[in-house]
Amino acid sequence: MPKQPIALFWFRRDLRLTDNAALFQAQQSNLPVLPLFIFDKNILDALPDRRDGRVEFILRTLAALQRSLQKYGGGLLVRIGDPLQVWKSLIREYRIHSVYVNRDYEPYAVKRDEQVASLLQAHGIAWHSFKDQVVFEKGEVCKENGEPYTVFTPYMKKWRSLLRPESLKSWTIKDRASWFAIESNLPELKQLGFQPSNLTFPAADLPEEIVLHYDQTRNFPALAGTTRLGLHLRFGTVSLRELVRRGMLLNETWVNELIWREFFMQIMHHFPHVVDGPFKAAYAGIRWQNDETLFAKWCEGRTGYPLVDAGMRELNATGFLHNRVRMVCASFLAKHLLINWQWGEKYFADKLLDFELSSNNGNWQWAAGCGCDAAPYFRIFSPELQQKRFDPKRAYIKKWVAEVDTPEYPKPIVEHKQARLRALLAYQKSLR
Ligand SMILES: Cc1cc2nc3c(=O)[nH]c(=O)nc-3n(C[C@H](O)[C@H](O)[C@H](O)COP(=O)(O)OP(=O)(O)OC[C@H]3O[C@@H](n4cnc5c(N)ncnc54)[C@H](O)[C@@H]3O)c2cc1C
Repeated sequence: MPKQPIALFWFRRDLRLTDNAALFQAQQSNLPVLPLFIFDKNILDALPDRRDGRVEFILRTLAALQRSLQKYGGGLLVRIGDPLQVWKSLIREYRIHSVYVNRDYEPYAVKRDEQVASLLQAHGIAWHSFKDQVVFEKGEVCKENGEPYTVFTPYMKKWRSLLRPESLKSWTIKDRASWFAIESNLPELKQLGFQPSNLTFPAADLPEEIVLHYDQTRNFPALAGTTRLGLHLRFGTVSLRELVRRGMLLNETWVNELIWREFFMQIMHHFPHVVDGPFKAAYAGIRWQNDETLFAKWCEGRTGYPLVDAGMRELNATGFLHNRVRMVCASFLAKHLLINWQWGEKYFADKLLDFELSSNNGNWQWAAGCGCDAAPYFRIFSPELQQKRFDPKRAYIKKWVAEVDTPEYPKPIVEHKQARLRALLAYQKSLR
């Protein structure tokens, strides 16, 4: 075991060396800092696709982090396994004085951190956790009476009223600080049990031109009208505080999207039951049809509704799906096909590069009409009208459904008016 006491910084959803709250604090300890990343087997083994692009993205990001750390005279320690077991062996191998992490709010991560923190504490090692991936966490934005908000607009107003310059403070990391030097031990994708995904990952830069016009372009899937930063927000390869600072000078509507992200995170914190079912209990009794053949057609983009099919094909091919089309595809699954929205939630979770538990869950519940602040169940999107409004020249559809105007294109798997009526009845019945 090395004699020197060290501070360990554990990378999770904060894969960057700039403006990183816990890494900054680790440097304040005046101990040599050793950054760590654990490939969590519990998560990796559960991924159904061995070409999952997110694993590849993490590995590439770690390789870049490692190069930077080695340039500064340090290194990155990488382990593969169950986090608790990994920590048990790290305690034996290193003289760890203290551990620094940025907080993660997903239920699995909260439990994992509780277990690791108590293991460390039992060995006299201090555990320090910080807020980093949100501006406001947990119960920081609540009503005057302390109750959580369940409707977005008042939450957003309160969020904005609480914002201070310190909320967006940048935590600058010193390159030339004291790092603990170690040899590189980054695994290959193959060692992790994965293969290249052949997906293209969007850049981590804020496209200012896009943000400037965001309120006018964001709903049109044929345009490059959104930032594609979701993946980077998911893995912390961008600083949220920097995005908010810059976004506030560019476009209020776009900043609201970042607030939606925090809105759903606090919903999951206050109402953890949403992870396993509807926010509103009354919707738990909907009698879904759950037709597996129709579900497969939805997944493949072969429903005979061009906007739905274009969206699902974009998702399958790129790991991205435009927000407007996410709403249409989600609504179509729950309402037109009467398939449990949780099936769709799981499919998106497996496919989206920017998958984020609380945003995915919150938006699926919104689309299915059973979430907090959801569209009322009787407002059912017509995929055709949505297409006329948001893809009027059919540029998006033609990009993804080349055979749209040919006899090869499938006939609609359900008839809109009948499906709408059936959904209304099913929802009404469950609400009685
Ligand atoms: C059914 C469904 C599932 C979704 N699943 C996810 C998911 O797993 N992960 C995810 O990050 N977003 C999800 N969204 C929200 C939204 O579609 C994506 O955040 C957005 O399309 C990502 O594109 P972008 O990076 O270009 O974001 P931009 O439009 O440029 O917005 C910037 C950022 O704001 C946040 N954001 C934007 N819209 C929302 C929203 N409605 N809810 C919460 N955050 C938002 C995201 O972090 C996004 O990257 C989902 C929406 C729907 C309707």
